[in-house]
Amino acid sequence: MEAEIIAVGTELLLGDILNTNAQFLSRELAQLGINVHFQSVVGDNPERLESVVNLARSRSDLLIFSGGLGPTQDDLTKQTVAHAFGDELRFDEEELDKIRAFFTAWGRTMPENNRRQAYVPVHGRKIENHNGTAPGMIFEDTRAPGKYAVLLPGPPYELKPMFLDTVRPWLAAMTRSALHSETLRVMGVGESHLEEKIGHLLENENPTAALYAKTAEVVIRVTAKADTPEHAKEMCEEYAQKFYAILGDKIYARGEQPIEYATVAALRAAGKTAALAESCTGGLVAKRLTDVPGASAVFGYGACTYSNGIKEKMLGVRHETLEAHGAVSSETAAEMARGVRRVSGADFGIGITGIAGPDGGTDEKPVGTVYMAVADAENTYVQKLVLTGRTRATVRESSAQHAFDMLRRIALGLPQLTAQRFDSEEPAHLREQTTALRDA
Ligand code: AMP
Ligand code: MG
Repeated sequence: MEAEIIAVGTELLLGDILNTNAQFLSRELAQLGINVHFQSVVGDNPERLESVVNLARSRSDLLIFSGGLGPTQDDLTKQTVAHAFGDELRFDEEELDKIRAFFTAWGRTMPENNRRQAYVPVHGRKIENHNGTAPGMIFEDTRAPGKYAVLLPGPPYELKPMFLDTVRPWLAAMTRSALHSETLRVMGVGESHLEEKIGHLLENENPTAALYAKTAEVVIRVTAKADTPEHAKEMCEEYAQKFYAILGDKIYARGEQPIEYATVAALRAAGKTAALAESCTGGLVAKRLTDVPGASAVFGYGACTYSNGIKEKMLGVRHETLEAHGAVSSETAAEMARGVRRVSGADFGIGITGIAGPDGGTDEKPVGTVYMAVADAENTYVQKLVLTGRTRATVRESSAQHAFDMLRRIALGLPQLTAQRFDSEEPAHLREQTTALRDA
C-alpha cells in the first residue's frame, strides 16, 4: 500500500505553525509497514486543494488528510474529497446532537456555523471525535475500490487519538497485522555511543526499533507487527531483552513516565529518603520530584542554596572550601550533599552546583560545567558534567536528569556510572554544628 499525507491549512504555508501532524502520521504509517511516498501542504483554497487531491488520487492508494474540517468557510476538504472519490455528503442528525452536546458541556450554545461539521459521507464512514466537534471520515473511491482517503481534524490533540483509536486498527486489519510497541528509557549513555552499542539492533525489519534523543536521555521504541496482538507483544518482549542484555540497568524504566518516577519508586522500594541542596538547578529537581504523586514518602527537604553565604550557613559548606575551590567545584558539591543530608536527617543527600550560563563561564570552568554529588552515611560520590553548547534551560534540565539517575542508582544499590568516590575528612565541629541545626 502506497500512501501520501496532505496537510491542509494556510497557516502551515505561512510558517505560523509547524506541520507536526505529518511527522506523527509518517512515523505511524512506517510502523504499519505502509510506505509514504509524498507529503504535501496546501492552503485553504478549493482549486489548489482539488488539484492536489486529484494528483494524489492518481498515484497513491491511501491519502491521509490533516486539517480543513473546521466550521469556517475556508474548510472545504471534505466536499472536495467527496467529489474526487465519487461520494456525497449527507446531513447527520446524530452527529449534530453530538456537536451540540459538546458545546453544552462547556456551558455554551452551538454557533450555526458548526452545523457544517454534521455532514458525513453517504458511502464512506465517519470517525468519532472524542476531543472536538469535527468528526473524521474515511472515503473509499467508488470508481476505484481499494483506494482510500482518510480525513482527520488539524488540532494534534484531536488527530492523534483519532488515528490511534480508529485509523491505526483499521489499517492494521487491512494490512492483516496487529501492532505492539514498547518504550525503553535509557539514562547514562550518550546517543552516539548508544548507536555504536546497539546500532545492529536498529536495522531489523520486524520488530523495528528506533532511537529518539531527549534531554540527557534516549528513548528506544520497539514495535512488532504480527497476526495477533498477543504475538506482537511477545515478539516485542523478546526483542526488548536484547537491549537489556547490552544496556542492563541503564534502562531505567519502560513507558512514558520521566525518570523522577523511577527515582521515587526506587527510593520507596528501598524505604529510603533523600534531601536536596540545589544551586544552579534552582529548585528544579525538587519541583520534578514533587510532581510525582506520593513523593512525600521519600522526600521532605529541598534547599535552594544559590549564594555562597547560605551554602555556609544552611549546609555547613566550609568557608575555606569555597575560598580554595570555588562554589562550582567537586569539593563544594560534596559538602552540599553531606550538609543537606545531615541537616535533614535523610538517608541520601544531593548537592548540585554549576554554571548554567549564558555568563559566568571561564576557560577552566566553561558554561555547562556542573558538579553533582550524592552522599549516604558512608560515602560521597561526585560527578562532573560538561554540558557545553547548551542553553541555560537545557543545562538545568540535564543536571536534574543526572541527579535523578544518581539518586535512583544509590537507592537501588547500583554503582554510580561516572561519579567518583570523594574522600575527604570532615572536621568534627562541622558534624556537631549541622546536627545542632537539624535539631533546632
Ligand atoms: P483545522 O482542522 O484546519 O481547523 O485545524 C485547526 C488547528 O489545528 C490549526 O489552527 C492548528 O493549530 C492545528 N493544525 C492544523 N494543521 C496542523 C498540522 N499539520 N500540524 C500541527 N497542527 C496543525
Ligand atoms: Mg484549517
